[in-house]
Amino acid sequence: MSIDSEDLRNCPARITLDAAQLAFFDGLPAEAPSVQTELGCELELGHEGSHAALGQQVEATMWWIQWTLSASEINPYTWCPAKSTPHVEDRNDRDCTLFDGHPGQHVDGHLARRSDAA
Ligand SMILES: [Zn+2]
Ligand SMILES: [Zn+2]
Repeated sequence: MSIDSEDLRNCPARITLDAAQLAFFDGLPAEAPSVQTELGCELELGHEGSHAALGQQVEATMWWIQWTLSASEINPYTWCPAKSTPHVEDRNDRDCTLFDGHPGQHVDGHLARRSDAA
């Protein structure tokens, strides 16, 4: 029995953004299309702390929605510094796709879901 990338499991938590949160993202000077109203946690299954989903990226700042059972908030972060190629200035496809200081394991950008066609 082999272990492949199909066995990598994400936290199943999901969040539906409220009107104020959607308005916040709509107000950002982002070139990307508006965020989806429902987002899934991007951390590893069983992680500590709040759930987190990337809402929007504006230049070097990533706006993450973080939530628990009782509350949710939007916070700015920079990219996780874990890189597959430490000496390269530009981000690589395989660099961790999470935020600086995230709980759990790093997420390999190469394996991350690329559902939104940019
Ligand atoms: Zn989670
Ligand atoms: Zn990381």
